[in-house]
Amino acid sequence: MTQPQPLSFEFFPPKTAEGAEKLRITRRQLAQFKPEYCSVTFGAGGSTQDGTLTAVLEIQSEGLAAAPHLSCIGSSRVRISEILQQYRASGIRHVVALRGDIPSGMLDVGEFRYANELVAFIREQHGDWFHIEVAAYPEYHPQSNSAEADLRAFVNKVNAGADAAITQYFFNPDAYFHFVDEVRARGVTIPIVPGIMPIQNFNQLSRFSDMCGAEIPRWLRLRLQSFGDDTASIRAFGLDYVTELCDKLLDNGAPGLHFYTLNAAGAVSTVCQRLGR
Ligand code: FAD
Repeated sequence: MTQPQPLSFEFFPPKTAEGAEKLRITRRQLAQFKPEYCSVTFGAGGSTQDGTLTAVLEIQSEGLAAAPHLSCIGSSRVRISEILQQYRASGIRHVVALRGDIPSGMLDVGEFRYANELVAFIREQHGDWFHIEVAAYPEYHPQSNSAEADLRAFVNKVNAGADAAITQYFFNPDAYFHFVDEVRARGVTIPIVPGIMPIQNFNQLSRFSDMCGAEIPRWLRLRLQSFGDDTASIRAFGLDYVTELCDKLLDNGAPGLHFYTLNAAGAVSTVCQRLGR
């Protein structure tokens, strides 16, 4: 029997004791789906960086594989070296390497300008110790000058030594398949795992999508808007749509699924159960 494609779950570092307890409960609920690994985001500009390692160590102590994110904007080679040493000393062998979003007001972008420089630095300092994931943008990064420039930047980042990529979330599966075709035609062979965002709260999703350049297709936006304040209907519709999206992706060759859990288990668990996990 062939193995089902692997799942992974992304969390953010909690800021309070209550948040940490909520995350523990979330992880316990999601552990039943046997994730390949769980990743923990890393705040660009210093906001939550210690929390990333703390959360990763907790995940490891629970017997799950964990991957910290590491963003380089605003940082120095010395600081990134220290963090990598700390990760390595903690037995971590898997990182998600990012540029990070430039925090407003940041004047000094530091010694790394783009994620490909971070990937090259990790390889230079640590050889093959780390399995390196990078970010991919099927609908293109909001700051890129053109689709072609963004594709070139992605290929560059892969050639710097990435082992796999996780995509920004999207709701149109064609965007993902088109992106994969484009980068395969440019010689990229690494797995490109779709990032999946559950649909829970329309206003929040809409704000976030505008910021990160993920498109909510017009028909989907209008459909979700038509539910108004009826959150139960938004969630029910969202679960149907996201499950269908995951099914299409897996049936057509996606190598796995990476869920943006937002530290909550409910919607992600339902989608995983509906996928037969
Ligand atoms: P890059 O790959 O460096 O690309 C950034 C932009 O620069 C793109 O427009 C690209 O086209 C362009 N570019 C790249 N190289 C060049 C070049 N040589 N010359 C000119 N232009 C170039 N952010 C966080 O702060 N913390 C997190 O934990 C985090 N986790 C994430 C996880 C995933 C799966 C994803 C998809 C995103 C995550 N982000 C996170 C957000 C991410 O940091 C932002 O999207 C950021 O703006 C870009 O990061 P990147 O690593 O993709 O950058």
